[in-house]
Amino acid sequence: MKDDQLTPGRRIVLRAAAALGIAATAGCGATDRPAAPGPTVPSGAPAGGPPAVRARKPSTYRLQPMAGYGPPRSARALPRVRKAPILRLDGHDHSMVLTFDDGPDPRYTPPILRTLRRYGVRAMFFVCGEMAAENPDLLREMADDGHLIGNHTWSHPLLPKLKRSTMREQIERTCDVIEDVTGEPPEWFRAPYGAWNRNAFQLGAELGMEPLAWTVDTLDWTEPGARSIVRRVRAGAGPGVVVLSHDAGGDRSGTVDALRTYLPDLLESGYGITVPSRYTV
Ligand SMILES: [Zn+2]
Repeated sequence: MKDDQLTPGRRIVLRAAAALGIAATAGCGATDRPAAPGPTVPSGAPAGGPPAVRARKPSTYRLQPMAGYGPPRSARALPRVRKAPILRLDGHDHSMVLTFDDGPDPRYTPPILRTLRRYGVRAMFFVCGEMAAENPDLLREMADDGHLIGNHTWSHPLLPKLKRSTMREQIERTCDVIEDVTGEPPEWFRAPYGAWNRNAFQLGAELGMEPLAWTVDTLDWTEPGARSIVRRVRAGAGPGVVVLSHDAGGDRSGTVDALRTYLPDLLESGYGITVPSRYTV
């Protein structure tokens, strides 16, 4: 891990931050902004955009031409600093988002990837840096299948308990391992336990990421069995719903089995499975 070095993408993000007058170093200026706790609301702007048909971004591993989705990285604007995470996607009348946290784990991530591949759908994986560093091939497989890889910190700490410099290290190291392995920096960030604070929102935005929480918690981390997980997904299904599951952190065989049931169910019910675009939320 070259965690003490800046990757090219990180340099660009930091340059963009500097150009926009945003503090790009820990504890520098940005912390004194007012941050009255805002209402917990989903994204204000309509998410828009076609579901699941977004062109893949170029990746060094996909060997595709540089005509992918979105503006050139050097022209990307940083997201605004939110006061609440995005909970669901607006403007997705018939689409849902599946997310898997804490991995990758060689026991559970591969069968999840196989099921997603079987039905030709894209999902989001919020990976922990330490897991990603141990399983780079799985990270590469996610990227090659077109899934979005989000940042879930290095070792899954409770962020509000961390000082800003430690929080930055947790998030930035994870950005770096994702970019080193996949060739693309993450554009999405999810705080462990859904525990956000002002520093977490600020650092995520400075590093080019939007904060995504979830609409439906499958509670799969309690290992309730596949049937219970399926029941929760069915009960919570709806337009723009973001489903939280886990592909690591315990026995996730129930999560793996449940996906094999609820994914075809959702598709038969007319839902598309999509992933969001950072630029339209
Ligand atoms: Zn987690």
